[in-house]
Amino acid sequence: MVVVGAVLGPAAAARRPVEFAVLLLAAVAGGVAGPSVRAAIFRHSVPGRDAFRSRCPRCAAALAVGTRVPGAWPRKGRGPAAAVVPRRWWRAPGPGRLPASGRAPCCGVRIGPPAASVEAVSALACALVVAARPGPAAVAGCWIAVCGIALVAVDAAVHRLPGPLTVATTAGSGFALVPTAWVDPAGVARAVAAAAAATGVLLLVRAATRGGLGGGDCTLAPALGATAGRDGWPALLLAGLVGAVLGALHALVVAARTGRVRGVEVPFGPALVVGVLAVVTAVGPPG
Ligand SMILES: [Zn+2]
Repeated sequence: MVVVGAVLGPAAAARRPVEFAVLLLAAVAGGVAGPSVRAAIFRHSVPGRDAFRSRCPRCAAALAVGTRVPGAWPRKGRGPAAAVVPRRWWRAPGPGRLPASGRAPCCGVRIGPPAASVEAVSALACALVVAARPGPAAVAGCWIAVCGIALVAVDAAVHRLPGPLTVATTAGSGFALVPTAWVDPAGVARAVAAAAAATGVLLLVRAATRGGLGGGDCTLAPALGATAGRDGWPALLLAGLVGAVLGALHALVVAARTGRVRGVEVPFGPALVVGVLAVVTAVGPPG
């Protein structure tokens, strides 16, 4: 890490400790975001492209995991049959919230991740990001961390990166650059250029591998490129490298577990998310 810090500039070494109140505020913000992340995980952890669910798997009551919109309709039934399938993914419900208890408000059946788990991870992630980058970078970093929890959880459950999640992550990362614009307009320009570069590279890889790289990874690219590239081109390159190595390791683990080498498919997005967060928190300059 010392070597990497030297590559990225001496500023990386000149960090000041963060006040406890600021860390507490970040943890509270992360915890408050938890029920929304929980709802996103529940909503999208269903197999099938463009599928999502908004009803209790036991009693089929509508859950507050997003408002229904015209064009989306519930399929009657229980379990996976209760999934709501929209005509187009951009007509999927908006964000909702589920109680941190991990139980459906209607009948108390256990749904989604274990009680308080998402909220605790989200609080911890935000506190860690702010501890490492107590400046405008924290806003972009925390946004990627919070969205990353949902992306990794859904990917682990159903092996896909849903469009509504990747698009929301990318859109939000644009707004997360607003604090940077106040103090470092050049940083915003860097971030926009990096977002374009990262998207271009992933689209090229997608074309070269004939769709081997998922569309979700490409939709996520602007968010990740902007967040890492805000710190400069070396940071973007390093984040891409860490993501590629993690993605390769993930594929190896899946290949070892399934016992087959050909046709192994793993979403690249979670590896990229972890790579970006690692670089932003570990070697980014202060601010
Ligand atoms: Zn119920």
